[in-house]
Amino acid sequence: MGDAPHKILLDESEMPTAWYNVIPDLPAPPPPPLHPGTHEPVGPDDLAPLFPMALIEQEVTGERYVDIPGEVLDVYRIWRPSPLFRATRLERELGTPARIYYKYEGVSPAGSHKPNTSVPQAFYNHREGMECEVWQVAASYRSKPYRRTMMEIWGATVHSSPSEVTEFGRSLLAEDPNHPGSLGIAISEAVAMAVADPATRYALGSVLNHVLLHQTIIGEEALLQLAKVGDVPDVLVGCTGGGSNFGGLAFPFLREKLAGKMNPTIRCVEPAACPSLTKGEYRYDFGDTAGMTPLMKMHTLGHGFIPDAIHAGGLRYHGMSPLVSHIYELGLAEAIAIPQRECFAGALTFARTEGIVPAPEPTHAIAAAIREALACKESGEEKVILTALCGHGHLDMAAYEQYLSGEMVDLDLSDDAIAAAMAEVPVL
Ligand SMILES: *Cc1c(COP(=O)(O)O)cnc(C)c1O
Repeated sequence: MGDAPHKILLDESEMPTAWYNVIPDLPAPPPPPLHPGTHEPVGPDDLAPLFPMALIEQEVTGERYVDIPGEVLDVYRIWRPSPLFRATRLERELGTPARIYYKYEGVSPAGSHKPNTSVPQAFYNHREGMECEVWQVAASYRSKPYRRTMMEIWGATVHSSPSEVTEFGRSLLAEDPNHPGSLGIAISEAVAMAVADPATRYALGSVLNHVLLHQTIIGEEALLQLAKVGDVPDVLVGCTGGGSNFGGLAFPFLREKLAGKMNPTIRCVEPAACPSLTKGEYRYDFGDTAGMTPLMKMHTLGHGFIPDAIHAGGLRYHGMSPLVSHIYELGLAEAIAIPQRECFAGALTFARTEGIVPAPEPTHAIAAAIREALACKESGEEKVILTALCGHGHLDMAAYEQYLSGEMVDLDLSDDAIAAAMAEVPVL
């Protein structure tokens, strides 16, 4: 263990130049999104008010690989290829025979995996002359003010959601001026703006096929990096909010698994306060709270479900990527839910050994990796565990302060709250 490499790097020249589309390799295609009025599958024309055509094509493509535009590769090279770390100090602290690897996406300018998709989305939208306005979930807007400042530095206008800008936002603020917001509400507001103005498009951070496609650069790099040290994962764990960092890491490994070249267990980790895969139903629902998007077949807690304001704001989504949901239904991935205090306890162990302070979202992946490593300690198995540390937590100190002061609580989710939201899901 002493001479194991801690940091596994790729040269710029080794960076993958295509994104991977898992759909053609799956045993069955995912169910299509449906028009909310007709319940017929949506076509490219239905999506044209929302997205530039290049992204619509990527959303529905049957090609296994999509070339990354040269302009996007140039921007990726600011921080990519990202490092793969072997967590040797964490392994030693846990006393586990397992080998733990984490792919670190906190090296991007924003400090997370999001720029892997925001750069190509900005590229395709910019060709159609767009500027950027952001609806940031109110709970995050308040607890992470520096996130907003960073977006403003890069030229965006930022609204706290619910906002006074849209009718839906105003109606929610009238009910509760301190409304915490949710990702579903922020999506409703941004979609309303795009639908109302032919010169405006909608960009999103997760959930849809093209976003997961862009994130596959994570897994493609990790495959090359693990090959350099001659390791193959036995267990792959990732945190799932809308499913993009998970899909980005997992799908290239799923390709290898389906081809019979490796056989990792692939596991989603979600917060106990927003457990769409483990407690939601697999059925058609809206992607947003107001019910404006196409209906998507996914694991959902109900589009009206407003999760408690846990610190992992990026995991506060009522649904799940339809593609990750489909893969879960096919039995190609499993899922667990972990409460936030176990996650932060794991994050502290991680930060005190590996040095990096994780964002609240990937603390779920770390906690799951630690569970697995401790199980290996019991069984004596030398498993290879791979996870994504999808962002650093430098702007999440308020959450860490709460944990350190002992004020953080695990939020109990009642089945009644889920049942009430599920009652509003359309019956097809
Ligand atoms: C947005 C975000 C998430 C959740 O989104 P996914 O699509 O599930 O990856 C997780 N972690 C970080 C750091 C995020 O910014």
